[in-house]
Order: sequence, then structure tokens, then C-alpha cells
Amino acid sequence: MNFEISEKMQIILDMINEFVDKELIPLEPEFINKEFVDMVPALAEKRRMVKQMELWAPNHPKELGGMGLNLLEHGLVSEALGRTPIGHYVFGCQAPDAGNIEILHLHGTPAQKEQYLKPLVEGKIRSCFSMTEVDMPGSNPVMLETTAVKDGNDYVINGHKWYSTAADGAAFSIVMAVTNPDAPAYMQASMIIVPTNTPGYNLVRNIPVMGHRGSDYASHGEILFQSCRVPQENRLGPEGHGFIMAQERLGPGRIHHCMRWLGICNRSFDLMCKRANQRLISPDGKTLATKQIIQAWIAESAAEIQAARLMTLHAAWKIDTQGAKAARYDISFIKFMVANTMQQVIDRALQVHGGLGMTDDTILAYFFRHERAARIYDGADEVHKMAVAKRILQAHKESGYRAALNI
Ligand SMILES: Cc1cc2nc3c(=O)[nH]c(=O)nc-3n(C[C@H](O)[C@H](O)[C@H](O)COP(=O)(O)OP(=O)(O)OC[C@H]3O[C@@H](n4cnc5c(N)ncnc54)[C@H](O)[C@@H]3O)c2cc1C
Repeated sequence: MNFEISEKMQIILDMINEFVDKELIPLEPEFINKEFVDMVPALAEKRRMVKQMELWAPNHPKELGGMGLNLLEHGLVSEALGRTPIGHYVFGCQAPDAGNIEILHLHGTPAQKEQYLKPLVEGKIRSCFSMTEVDMPGSNPVMLETTAVKDGNDYVINGHKWYSTAADGAAFSIVMAVTNPDAPAYMQASMIIVPTNTPGYNLVRNIPVMGHRGSDYASHGEILFQSCRVPQENRLGPEGHGFIMAQERLGPGRIHHCMRWLGICNRSFDLMCKRANQRLISPDGKTLATKQIIQAWIAESAAEIQAARLMTLHAAWKIDTQGAKAARYDISFIKFMVANTMQQVIDRALQVHGGLGMTDDTILAYFFRHERAARIYDGADEVHKMAVAKRILQAHKESGYRAALNI
């Protein structure tokens, strides 16, 4: 495999990094202290600049108005954008819209593409994805209580979802609901587009997460579907294919998340080194950087970031060259590896900043609050470890340690 960055890609990354440094990081103090909804006009102006630079929607196909980068290339972009919490939004590649765009692109009918996909890629509307339920374990997604029952030409949806990220202000949700209760477990659910102004679609609240309800794009919604009626033509893909399509959506999505988390690692690491080099710790002019324990944190963080980065690039390369199925376990590895590396690096950086680290005067406390969830969403650590361990043990039983380690 070859992770060499092409000349063209390096130019793109340099432009993005410069934009993040000059245009986005200076907005962060305002972003941290204001509601997202109040930041929308300022962010719209930055989005306009990104479009003018022809860097909009890096991961989306060219025919949709994106840059058409492959997964590995977009991974590098995601890393650069991840250094600030507003990067992906400003460049039009934020979750969950990015995943919904992929689904609509792959499975949407021409009418669905015209009505939902086009304005979504252009950034004119936003969307959310409603799978997780209040009363059912998200870790075992086949246990869904939300139903979509056929009535005439419609589906009538009933159910109670939560953690629909960015539901506040979204134009539509892609809802996972049971349409075929008698089919085998993995063929019971379908994805259905539900415009948020449909009667019976009720956004109950923005869930308070780590002390903050958020607003607009930066929020997580609880949604009650009460006899919510949509035409059957709003179904995405074949009936009963919801889980198959969700799986497709998750593979590349996890690479995007991991590379974004590596961007967070890079930024936290940068702040940690700066602080260690500057903070005086004794009257003779010694800084924190002279202390062995701080040096150990810095060396460990650098090594862990590099390991996590290489694993993620490798998984992206494998998806690009062999497909998501072949990379299933590599994707599980990075999902828990990188999430834990990120948490560790943010925590060390915060600790090096002492009391300052706990304030909102740096971005570290924001990262600390918001990124804890990385070990839970898109499959909790434990679920990924269990799935990978099962496969490793089976391969070991059949063919020994080399097969188990895939070496
Ligand atoms: C910030 C954030 C954003 C999210 N965004 C979305 C979204 O946009 N759309 C959406 O549909 N959902 C979203 N989710 C929901 C997320 O996907 C679920 O929270 C996740 O799948 C876990 O499901 P659960 O919360 O029901 O936990 P449960 O399934 O109840 O699991 C709880 C814990 O039990 C343990 N556990 C579970 N299964 C096993 C096992 N087999 N072996 C050992 N231990 C186990 C794990 O430690 C796990 O954390 C989001 C969640 C968060 C926190």
C-alpha cells in the first residue's frame, strides 16, 4: 500500500489547513460561548468562501457538485478539518448529512434525488438519521419497536426515537422502521424519508448532553412518531433492506469519524506541546516541558497518534481497493482504537493546561465534553471488540495465530 500524498492533494490540504487556521479557529471563542443557531450567519459566510475556493463537499461525487475525492483523500481532508469543531460543517461534509447523501445517492429514486439530495448537497437544507430508540438497545439494532405499517399508498409510522443528531431545524429524517415483522431479523426494517413538517412527526426536545441542549445543527433530538403518514414512495431502496443499507453507510462513515478524531488529536497535541514549552514551573526558568512525566505524555501521545493514523489510512485504503466487507474488522479496530487514543490525548492535553484546561478559554474542554460520545456512537467499544474477538478466535482455531492476526 502507498499512502504518499499526491501533489494535487497536498495543495488541497495546504489550502484547507490555511483556511482552518485563518478563518475558523479565530471563530471558536464565539462558537463555544454562543448557541449554534446564533452562529449560523457567520458560518454561512465561511461556507460561501469555501464554495468560491471550490473546496465544497470534498467527499461527494463531482456530478452532485462535490470534489469527488476518494475515501483515503477525504480521510486526509477530514483530519485537517477535524482540528476545529466547525470544520466539517463549513466544508459541507458534516455527519449525519454526509451519510444521508451517500444513501440517497446510491438508493434514491430520481424524484427523491431531485427533492432531497440536490438541496442537501448544496447545503440549502439539513437532515437527520433516526435509528436509535429510547427503550431499545442501540447496540442490537435489530431490536426496533418503531413500525411503518402500509395503509393504502402510505406508510403509517409509530415509534419513539432519540439521539437523532441535528434533528433541530432538519428538513427531513431518514427513519429506520420495521416494515416486515415476519421476515428474518436483518430483513425486517426499511429506511423511509420523513419530512419534518409531516403531521405526527414530533420533535419532543433537544436532549441535554454533557450539560448542554445545543441548538440547530449542534443538537441531538428526541422524536415521537405518532401515526405519522408518508407516501410509500418515500421508502429508500427495497423493502426490508434498511440494515443492509445502514451497514453500507457505516463503513466509510467510520473512516470519516476516525480521521476527524485524529484532527482533534493533532490539535490537542499541538496545544499540549505549546503549553509544556511555555509554562514556567519554577523560578529558575524551567518549563513544564522539562518534567519527565510531561515528556512521557508527549512521547506516548505522538506514538499513539501515529499508530492510530496509520491504522485508519490502512483501513481506508482497504475499503477503496477491496470494498467495505473485506475491511470489516479493520473498521472495528480503528473505531475503538482511535476513539480511545483521542480521549487519552485530549485528557493529557487538558491535564497539562491545569486549571486553564477546565475553562472554555481553550478548545480542550469542548473536545473533552463532546468527544466522550465517540466510544458509544456508531457501535460501542465493547460491541466492536466482541465482534473482532469472535472472528480472531475462530481464525485462530482453524489456522493459527498468523491467520488470526491476518499477517
Ligand atoms: C453523541 C451521539 C450521537 C448520536 N447520533 C445518532 C444519530 O444521529 N442517529 C441515531 O440513530 N443514533 C445516534 N446515536 C445513538 C448511538 O448510535 C447509540 O447510543 C449506540 O448505538 C448505543 O446504543 P444505546 O445507547 O441504546 O446503548 P445500549 O445498546 O443500551 O448499550 C449500553 C452499553 O452496554 C454495553 N454493551 C452493549 N452491547 C454489549 C455487548 N454485546 N457486549 C458487551 N457490552 C455491551 C456498551 O458498553 C454500551 O455502551 C448517537 C449517540 C450519541 C451519544
